Amino acid sequence: MANEKGLHRRLGSQARNLAKKFRLQEISGLEISDALMLVEDLVDMYVRNISQTERFCKTRKRALLLPHCARKYMDKRCQASFDPKIPSYSCGHCSKDCLVNKATELAEELGYDVFVLAGSSCVPQVLKKKGYEGIVGVACTHELKMGGDFLQGIELSGQAVPLTKNGCANTSFNMETLKRTMCLA
Ligand code: SF4
Repeated sequence: MANEKGLHRRLGSQARNLAKKFRLQEISGLEISDALMLVEDLVDMYVRNISQTERFCKTRKRALLLPHCARKYMDKRCQASFDPKIPSYSCGHCSKDCLVNKATELAEELGYDVFVLAGSSCVPQVLKKKGYEGIVGVACTHELKMGGDFLQGIELSGQAVPLTKNGCANTSFNMETLKRTMCLA
């Protein structure tokens, strides 16, 4: 209900107004408004997750979408193969401590198909493939927001896991959060 009424968005907007009213940005020297927007996007993502959990856990055919920037190596040392038709990488399991390797092994054990993508613009191509019912996406909040809007538009059930370290390379995410999000039961 809170999601439908946009309650968290309204609270976020009020928090930004208060920060402006009390000139917190000028006083602290911090970009308070930007920080509040980030928190608001994260809360929005978690609210969407919660509202979709029950439906997601009933899905049978699922895919996990991972960001290519979380690979341990971004050069020739990465043994992933690349399919230009999707376009997606497929992990070659060269490094046990690579996050993409760990997430791929876990997901495949659970029956997920795994795609390692360069961005959310590849998501429609993946979904064209095999009639997935549920999608778990790992990405930065900006990409998750775009992916979430897209899934909502086609009424597909999704769960999101935010990166804990953003960037173009060496990004990371929390494996425990991913496990909890994948509906292991
Ligand atoms: S474990 Fe997989 S994703 Fe990670 S560097 Fe090796 S081939 Fe690439």
